[in-house]
Amino acid sequence: MDGTPVREGAEAPFYLPQGDECTLFAAAHANALPLLLKGPTGCGKTRLVAHMAARLGRPLYTVACHDDLSAADLIGRYLLKGGETVWADGPLTRAVREGAICYLDEVVEARKDVTVVLHPLTDDRRILPIDRTGEELAAAPGFMLVASYNPGYQNILKTLKPSTRQRFLSIEIDFPKPGQETEIVVAESGLDPARAAALVRLAGKLRALRGQDLEEGVSTRLVVYAATLIARGMPLERAVLAAMIEPLTDDEDVRRGLLDLVAAVF
Ligand code: ADP
Repeated sequence: MDGTPVREGAEAPFYLPQGDECTLFAAAHANALPLLLKGPTGCGKTRLVAHMAARLGRPLYTVACHDDLSAADLIGRYLLKGGETVWADGPLTRAVREGAICYLDEVVEARKDVTVVLHPLTDDRRILPIDRTGEELAAAPGFMLVASYNPGYQNILKTLKPSTRQRFLSIEIDFPKPGQETEIVVAESGLDPARAAALVRLAGKLRALRGQDLEEGVSTRLVVYAATLIARGMPLERAVLAAMIEPLTDDEDVRRGLLDLVAAVF
């Protein structure tokens, strides 16, 4: 089970807003509305949720969804403990009981029965029926459901159905603008602003190839990785290759083309 409660202290993890997403998040929480974050991988969705959970003073349960994740993984199951059968809450149930924030990362990856569970939680009933124990839990005040998905990955078999999507407020989050991304990279890695800005310029060029040579552009996460390695003394070319080129492609021709871009930027 990968739902881990994180109780942040007074200090919220650093998050540089791209727009009004923090205000919208807070308004969704205040009004007990579920929220969907749409955007490519590594653009700051998880960080936004961690930041807001800390600011709102709510515990956070994060679940990385995958194609084997079932409703029981979220809700809970009976476990055998010392010859006895005991019920163990899943992360969603714990969040509902405690009035926590439950973040379902990449929710479309999960099995279909998961969306069925979410429906009564995402309308004004705010209840979680637990079939196996016969309980019907009303969400405690402060409970909020946040889900993310990456529209870029979608194929016909894996999209959020309108009946699910239309239960959530939605925010589109893309990669930060260059000035903001440079600020993030500097804050996260400690690299000097000039070299951070050059990495961000390279990221912009790599992202322009999205949909042509590359399925996905380079994420802010990877730019931060490259910057971290450089700030710790790794030669720039080596760090860029490991963090911003190799993760994007296995195709030798494409890789060579990307290296030409690197040469053009540095
Ligand atoms: P996602 O959940 O969208 O895949 P993350 O939230 O894990 O992406 O972001 C990846 C990394 O990028 C973070 O760990 C952080 O270092 C950095 N990052 C991206 N956007 C921001 C932002 N707006 N403020 C602070 N850090 C950010």
